[in-house]
Amino acid sequence: AQERYASIRDEPAEALCGTRISLQMNAGLMADLPSLPSSGAEGVGLFRTELQFLIRNQMPRRAELSALYSRVMDAAGGKRVAFRTLDIGSDKVLPYMKPNEEPNPALGWRAIRVGLDKPGVLRMQLQALIRAAAGRRLTVMFPFIAQLAEFRDARAEFDKAMERERILGHPLPEVVEVGAMLETPSLGYAPDIFYDEVDFLSVGGNDLKQFFFAADRENERVRRRYDTLNVSFLRFLQQVIDRCEAHGTPLSFCGEDAGRPIEALCLAAMGFRTLSMRPASIGPVKHMLRRCNLREVREVIEDAAARGEQSVREPVMAYLAEQGW
Ligand code: PEP
Ligand code: MG
Repeated sequence: AQERYASIRDEPAEALCGTRISLQMNAGLMADLPSLPSSGAEGVGLFRTELQFLIRNQMPRRAELSALYSRVMDAAGGKRVAFRTLDIGSDKVLPYMKPNEEPNPALGWRAIRVGLDKPGVLRMQLQALIRAAAGRRLTVMFPFIAQLAEFRDARAEFDKAMERERILGHPLPEVVEVGAMLETPSLGYAPDIFYDEVDFLSVGGNDLKQFFFAADRENERVRRRYDTLNVSFLRFLQQVIDRCEAHGTPLSFCGEDAGRPIEALCLAAMGFRTLSMRPASIGPVKHMLRRCNLREVREVIEDAAARGEQSVREPVMAYLAEQGW
């Protein structure tokens, strides 16, 4: 199997119907970057910057962070890297930060909420990113945005950081993209203007699914209780896809499900054109996509939903079996 994937490493993820899907990788440490060329990923769709903070025993300095981000961009060799700003919360506690007892950490003071309430670290991180990206493309993504105002506030922090750098006379990034992760159902219903203001959106399926079904992703008893291919969830995603298409908002999916071949196939059939996953999943997902016709898969999904099936998994698997899988 490994050889089969190696042989298609430099081939595009092009389905039989001719649709191309951009397969990108998720990363978080410098050590992940060598997988970029070997996996055939077209970029880093999610760089989880908190990992760098979690492996240390003291707060990194701005100069260190900036050097690190610069090395990450060098290692990506000009391919796009979407840097997600710190996603910490009371469950991912930094050893050098005061722990904060909360009854429901997943629903608590985490990610961009911390970044906006105590902006010191976010500002340092944004400045480090801007410096690292001098003269090149910078892609920044804010985690856990739940409403338009949060995106605007986060974006204002970014714009202020750019302005400070400009006043200091530092060279700025050549191109800047500032987007949001869609991890709470509320963003699916955000005002139209939200879809115009974000430069891109990336669905964080792990958190989105947990909040959609109200099922803790860390709880063994419930985490696999609801299928990602549940028609209600797919219907929600379809609405997000349609809104992004209507507003010309680039959209990707970067939760773990993007790395599962059947899930990836369904996401692509529904309209996702960029999927970001762990590097080892790129081969299997590409292999699946290259042997399928997305239009046919879409019909299977729509028929199953129209029949009132709870999940499209069985019908899609039956379709794949017919195709000789
Ligand atoms: C997600 O929630 O799907 C996601 C990509 O972010 P994380 O898994 O780091 O929460
Ligand atoms: Mg998340």
